[in-house]
Amino acid sequence: MKAVRMHGYGGVEQLFFEDAEQPTLSEPSEVIVKLKAASINHIDIWNRMGATGINVPMPHTLGADGAGVVVEVGARSGSVKVGDAVCLYPPTGCGHCEFCITDQDFMCVYLRVLGERMEGTYAEYVKLPAQNCFPIPQGYSFEEAAAFPLVFITLWRMLITNAQLRPGESLLIIGIDGGVASASLQLAKKVGARVLVTSGSDEKLERAKKLGADHGINHSKTDFAKVVSDLTDGGGVDVVLDCVGGEVWRKSLRSLARGGRLVTCGATAGGQPTDDIAAIVSKQLKIYGSTLGSREEFRQLIAFVSASKIKPIIDSVFPLRDGAVAQRYVEEAKQFGKVVLRIPD
Ligand SMILES: [Zn+2]
Repeated sequence: MKAVRMHGYGGVEQLFFEDAEQPTLSEPSEVIVKLKAASINHIDIWNRMGATGINVPMPHTLGADGAGVVVEVGARSGSVKVGDAVCLYPPTGCGHCEFCITDQDFMCVYLRVLGERMEGTYAEYVKLPAQNCFPIPQGYSFEEAAAFPLVFITLWRMLITNAQLRPGESLLIIGIDGGVASASLQLAKKVGARVLVTSGSDEKLERAKKLGADHGINHSKTDFAKVVSDLTDGGGVDVVLDCVGGEVWRKSLRSLARGGRLVTCGATAGGQPTDDIAAIVSKQLKIYGSTLGSREEFRQLIAFVSASKIKPIIDSVFPLRDGAVAQRYVEEAKQFGKVVLRIPD
């Protein structure tokens, strides 16, 4: 089969579109999926750079997100059948620790994620546990079905399970460009929240407004915390989504109302920000870190996006062979929404 594989840690020059061995079943609980689409996530880039500290045998196939058709099933694949059109739930655990037996594999110390410790989706075929295959949300194309799992499950857990964002509350999204940010905007508007977004690009702010953002703040021209204060009559917002960190972190804390919640799933501008403990203490703030979510949350999410007709925003689609080009495009933050790889038949 064809795959985009990395041959070492480093830049995109480590990625090669080449022939790779097709996966075969080794456990009765596994299935093989013929992929139709995959999508690019920042985690793929961190894995490629070796920034996650995980060592995998080379060459290695990246890609946590994918969608396709089941072509082979093991003897214990449950309700998953050959011919099913599926999207993929990325993480899997050891199967018997306190987290795995309560459907919280994503907290297992032996966590394995597609494209990370497992061979990923930048390929024509992928092998994974049957229980990680879910029906594609209603009305989704394969490209849309490959664009939503990692991003949407992460923000579903952050905003709905953890921060418990409610109708009428306000949400500030820092840096409206990545897949997580644009998906959060869509989800928060469906919940009925007032949404403020920041970006260094007026063009991206305009696009966010077309998607329903109530206010756009250009953070390269103004102090966004000051603008947030003005827009909320000095009260601050109920929830901030900050996956940027670095210099921005203190301003995010400053933007929160008393009893506010900050949620984060990463730090693209630096993971060691200066904190403001006084603000956390005096304003009774809550900070939730999260990545991924449970299968039950994934089921809730699929039901929610099917009923509310939310679809992931797709910025662009590249053919599989251009996996390296697509990763560079994401690294340069050129996108608004998700970047997808189309996998030919
Ligand atoms: Zn476990």
